[in-house]
Amino acid sequence: MPMFRARSRVYHALAEALAEPPDWLALPGCEWPLFECAVRLAPTSEAARRAAESLSQVRAESLAARRARYAALFAGPGGPRFWLYESAALTGRLLGAETFVVERLYRDAGLETEGAELPDHASLELAFLAHLAENVETTGPVVSTDMERNFIARHAGRWLPQLGQALSHSADEVYGPIGRLLADWLTEAKCKMQNAECGMRAEAHSPFIIQHSHLHQHASAVSFRIQKLPVIPRAESCTLCGFCAQVCPVRALAVRESDAETTLLLLPAACVGCGKCQLVCDAGALEMTQLREGSLSAGEWGALCQSPRARCRDCGQPTVSTAELAFVASRIGHPAWLDYCPDCRAHF
Ligand code: SF4
Ligand code: SF4
Repeated sequence: MPMFRARSRVYHALAEALAEPPDWLALPGCEWPLFECAVRLAPTSEAARRAAESLSQVRAESLAARRARYAALFAGPGGPRFWLYESAALTGRLLGAETFVVERLYRDAGLETEGAELPDHASLELAFLAHLAENVETTGPVVSTDMERNFIARHAGRWLPQLGQALSHSADEVYGPIGRLLADWLTEAKCKMQNAECGMRAEAHSPFIIQHSHLHQHASAVSFRIQKLPVIPRAESCTLCGFCAQVCPVRALAVRESDAETTLLLLPAACVGCGKCQLVCDAGALEMTQLREGSLSAGEWGALCQSPRARCRDCGQPTVSTAELAFVASRIGHPAWLDYCPDCRAHF
């Protein structure tokens, strides 16, 4: 299977899983088309590699049971636990401006939506991305990738990673791993596309780059090296989601959890200053700052941000960090189950 087709199938399978549980969802995770694509893409995608691991743990279940999970998460009286519509997720109300904007984008691409679902439903946005990824063959990589990049930057990438992240914390054995893949996949796609764009810009300005490296040669007599490192100037802006650590190519960032707190750590000696962590941080918490080498303990892990862990209201076990809890609550409200650990949530 060509690479672009495997990418398209990831979007397509995610779209199916979030529309209504398809028949294949009743199978064990290792027999899902999502798993097959994740294995295929694992050598080039960290998100796919992690997904292959977590999807392989999902056990088979009847389709009726899968449907019950879906209904518990995405439907229900008094509003769903998780909104599957862009406008509702971003503004709290259905049929917002986003609904009409994405419908126009589909029409501009020569597509029409079928069925009763609103155009900004997660499954339709993902199906559109599947269409764009598949169309690399007919429209060429530049046109198709541009459209995919724009759609991720303006629509899918603005809310689906958060939905995926919230699902991954839902403790649901089926939609938790699917949510994690949704969050990781789109975050990685966003990051790769931003990097590709930076690469293209750098190429377009190659004379400046040459001059710049020339300047570096002259500066080599200076006794210290200037290096950019990530910092978090306002700790309250970091949700401790860990995405920055996931995309760091050299593992210079890590999230560690003790019984009492969650900490985002940096190993300055390992950081190569690529800035990927900053690009992926949706909260805008990370900044790249120039520091003189030696102004911090380069060979030791240092804390960038720290947050105490919340405790289950029932059994007292530590759950997620209070920073992450506050972030999820800001997105989905503060349902009672959020204050309990996954085991005690089963009583709801
Ligand atoms: S710095 Fe940004 S990406 Fe990293 S844990 Fe904090 S909020 Fe998440
Ligand atoms: S700048 Fe690059 S190498 Fe340094 S912590 Fe961020 S992602 Fe890792």
